[in-house]
Amino acid sequence: MSSILFPELRESVWRANLALVKAGLVTLSFGNASGVDRAAGVMVIKPSGVPYDDLRPENLVVLSLEDGSIVQGDLRPSSDTPTHLLLYRRLTEIGGVVHTHSSAATAWAQAGRSIPPFGTTHADHFHGSVPVTRQLSENEVAGEYERETGVVIVETLERLGLHATEMPAALVASHGPFTWGRDAREAADNATALEAVAAMATQTLALNPDCGPVNQYLLDRHYLRKHGPNAYYGQRRK
Ligand SMILES: [Zn+2]
Repeated sequence: MSSILFPELRESVWRANLALVKAGLVTLSFGNASGVDRAAGVMVIKPSGVPYDDLRPENLVVLSLEDGSIVQGDLRPSSDTPTHLLLYRRLTEIGGVVHTHSSAATAWAQAGRSIPPFGTTHADHFHGSVPVTRQLSENEVAGEYERETGVVIVETLERLGLHATEMPAALVASHGPFTWGRDAREAADNATALEAVAAMATQTLALNPDCGPVNQYLLDRHYLRKHGPNAYYGQRRK
């Protein structure tokens, strides 16, 4: 058997996929995490439809970032692979992508609503409302559907002037959330935070349908103490 390529990247993507299950974000096999090695020009992603219990780092699929060809792997990659590839190509600062159908975040996506920042939990992770995309057109769905899903995410960020590092999530209308980060682990953490924030937002509106977003100064304070050059929350990341 030939040697396993990119063992560390495989391990980190494998752990991120399992973290989604542990966080309760995965229903059946709806969910996938990927990570990239930009220097090597490769992406590692979960294979399609493999039960999480059977998932091993060796089962993951390694693809070329440039043309999507399989570099190593016997199994078919996740059917959402073209979305992941598009996001890595267009959002050049990200190193990990996660997609789930976690219920609270998916409910907002299905409702076609962006998630307002109602409190500091939201502000700790997302610098403003988590955006929702427009609906894909019939042509986009009939064509390269998974790639178009990535296109509409990037289009939404650009339309709203959002930078991928400050807004590491988007809701695809009538579908569900995509999140990203510096690596697969951070993308999984953001998926977990997004689900918590979405559930809290739903409950907030149930209790007070007129509730508005947090004050901008509180949003900024919470976001900036965890992110950016003057961050001081937690421990420095190696
Ligand atoms: Zn999906």
